Amino acid sequence: MSFNAFEYCTWFLKHLGKVMVLVVLFFVLLTAAALLSAYSPRISQDGAGTAAASLLGLAIFFFLVAMLTWSYFAAVLLEPGRVPPGWSPFESDEEAALEADRLESGSHRQDKGLTGTGRPRYCRKCQAWKPERAHHDSMLGRCVLRMDHYCVWVANSVGLLNYKAFLLFLFYTFLACALGASMLLGDVARFFKGIDIAGPENAGRFALTMVAFVVDLAFCLSLGGLLAMHARMVWLNYTTIEMFEKQRAAQWPYDRGPRRNFEEIFGTRFWRWWIPTYTALEKARLLDVALAANPRDHSLATTEFAAL
Ligand SMILES: [Zn+2]
Repeated sequence: MSFNAFEYCTWFLKHLGKVMVLVVLFFVLLTAAALLSAYSPRISQDGAGTAAASLLGLAIFFFLVAMLTWSYFAAVLLEPGRVPPGWSPFESDEEAALEADRLESGSHRQDKGLTGTGRPRYCRKCQAWKPERAHHDSMLGRCVLRMDHYCVWVANSVGLLNYKAFLLFLFYTFLACALGASMLLGDVARFFKGIDIAGPENAGRFALTMVAFVVDLAFCLSLGGLLAMHARMVWLNYTTIEMFEKQRAAQWPYDRGPRRNFEEIFGTRFWRWWIPTYTALEKARLLDVALAANPRDHSLATTEFAAL
């Protein structure tokens, strides 16, 4: 039996993804334990003002944890965007058959690797036509609509229907880490000044506080960079794959201005921007646009999104 390095990597990344789910939960629990250990005595022993501030800090932190957990499992479990079986960009079966023949003979008019031209695209691995902005994901073994990238952290491909959940996961995790690090900063400074460090109980608390603080700070910095990169892509309506493509259409056809680009992913209702799922209507509209024979013609989509 021959060794296939690509298949081995795919197998490894799939299983690594499952471990990453546990790693994320472990990091969340680590900070929660450090904060509870640092702030519980303040709530029960200190004055009313300190107790109220401590309680408020903990309440906001656990609210962020609830939102990041919801967003995380939405990104992990939601279908990123499946191309319906038999989908074709052609108006009739005859036209589809003709293009399939051309594909066989090598005279098919698709531009290899050039996104945004509106030319029909065919996936040889799925043996099926694929809509614009869809890409074949070798991890899932099928094409994904508006595929952004395969994410090991969420053990799933990030695409049309879970990109919002993924972005909200980054956003809430960034805020939780920033809040966690700033709430632990006082204790870290006290430990370094030699205050509250004596005794085995404090040694354990010191280790927990330091590890949680360093992890929070590291996540904060890396997620800040990642969020800034995705903010730019949302602003211009690019996916990660499209952003790093060597060849693109000269005029990017999906950019409809920052506000509409944002609303395409987050919806038009302010209160729904913060929720990691779509309503049935929002989902249907997104699929309509992604599966349209020519999704670059956004005039219809613009009207429909505005009505949501
Ligand atoms: Zn495919």
